[in-house]
Amino acid sequence: MSALSQFRNFTQRLPETDLMPTLFIGHGSPMNGIENNEFSESWIDLAKHIPVPKAVLVVSAHWYTHGTFVTAMDFPSTIHDFGGFPQALFDVQYPAPGDPKLATEIPGLIHSTPVGLDHDWGLDHGTWTVVRHMYPNADIPVLQLSIDYTKSPAQHYEIAKEIYALRKKGVLVIGSGNMVHNLRMLSWEMINGGGYDWAIEMNDKFKNLIANGDFQPLINYRNLGSDAMLAIPTPEHYLPLIYTLGMKNDKEEVSFFNDKAVGGSLTMTSVLVG
Ligand code: ZN
Repeated sequence: MSALSQFRNFTQRLPETDLMPTLFIGHGSPMNGIENNEFSESWIDLAKHIPVPKAVLVVSAHWYTHGTFVTAMDFPSTIHDFGGFPQALFDVQYPAPGDPKLATEIPGLIHSTPVGLDHDWGLDHGTWTVVRHMYPNADIPVLQLSIDYTKSPAQHYEIAKEIYALRKKGVLVIGSGNMVHNLRMLSWEMINGGGYDWAIEMNDKFKNLIANGDFQPLINYRNLGSDAMLAIPTPEHYLPLIYTLGMKNDKEEVSFFNDKAVGGSLTMTSVLVG
């Protein structure tokens, strides 16, 4: 473990504070799944600094459904849910097992809405492009929880509170999206780094609210003004953050990593809670 790492070493914590951290990860381009770049290197580093989880549950922006579902198959398939990328990205398989037993426990935790067991989805790129860097041996079970597009941010926040218990069971819950995500305004001039003023300002606003534990404006993000509408033109990449915030307890610290804008209208800013 590098002394220069930005991550505190969770494995040095006392046993009584043994609550699995939880994460929001800005996943960005699917190419991060096969590139060794500053983002993927920090995912690798992060995994070395947090306890080895019993399972990983990802709330991915790319599983946006009518109703709430959890993947419950023995072996989830690797879903290549994108177009126009090199063959090498389509060739990736991430053969982590599922955990059907854990999946069947999740509907019992979530009382605010019915949760269906899913046998058809798998691991979409919001999950595998990140998790394969963290756990390259694919030896830790990985599940996904879908985002119900009929629900309000406040309802998603409530679901997140209900799955807090998974953190006590050694499950690493990851919200995978992007805080600022407006692909229509993507700038190829800034593709390797850089953001429009509004993107940087919204990213800073989100970070300040998160750092201050002031979550209500984040839940009611539609009231944050016109720049928020540019940052969040559609909610699916933002809502995974609401899950991460809902799983934070009052005593916990937050820290940020991969805090960078790329392509003008997208931020990779990620949050470690715990
Ligand atoms: Zn995405």
